Amino acid sequence: MKKIGTVLVLLLCVLFFWLWMQEKSKGKDRKESKVTMESNVAVNERKITELPATEAPVTKALSDGTDAAKLLLLVNPWHKLPQNYTVDLTDLNGGHQIATLCYPALQQMMDDARAAGLHPLICSSFRTWQKQERLYENKVAALMQKGYGREMAETAAAAEVAVPGTSEHQLGLALDIVDESNQNLDESQESTKVQKWLMENSWKYGFILRYPNEKRQITGIIYEPWHYRYVGKEAAAEIYANGWCLEEYLEHKAR
Ligand SMILES: [Zn+2]
Repeated sequence: MKKIGTVLVLLLCVLFFWLWMQEKSKGKDRKESKVTMESNVAVNERKITELPATEAPVTKALSDGTDAAKLLLLVNPWHKLPQNYTVDLTDLNGGHQIATLCYPALQQMMDDARAAGLHPLICSSFRTWQKQERLYENKVAALMQKGYGREMAETAAAAEVAVPGTSEHQLGLALDIVDESNQNLDESQESTKVQKWLMENSWKYGFILRYPNEKRQITGIIYEPWHYRYVGKEAAAEIYANGWCLEEYLEHKAR
């Protein structure tokens, strides 16, 4: 009888040990799949940010010198502005500045939006190289505080805050516009009255919603339902009608 008891206890021990091992390996699987997911995200983002930034198209457009060429200047993670790029600026209320080239169109758009009973608010406009650098470094620092390593933090930061030299705000042709009732720079912005109106009408004034949700892979930037870029009326109308982003429009033109 005592023998049977000992065998039973032993069997139970083996059973518990087996169950414990099963749980342990499940936990390990879970951990591993999380790591794989995270590193996939990193790989996708790296594809975007590690491509070499070339100054060639920018330099070409600048040497052209016409306003039309300046309006279509492509600045993105792969096309970097030279550090000595200068813009002719006009002051706006609230300490903002914008390229003189798009000031009349912006004024008209804001006036018409207000006349339609809306309350648009400009929260970001022209940025100097130094300001862009500060914003980018702050984002990197915030991610590193969350536990990212420097390299990983730089990669992740670049999808949200452009690396200095690759931000359209440095052109003076881009604006972040929010609804006074919701000043959060997140996707909730797309359902505000101001954004709905801008998404439908901004092209008439020469502005485009620069970073649509479905174009992230082409623009290299997350969905930003608040960032508008001036490209001139003709290009804006064509971009809007075809559902393109600026990269697609320029590619089409180059054919
Ligand atoms: Zn912006």
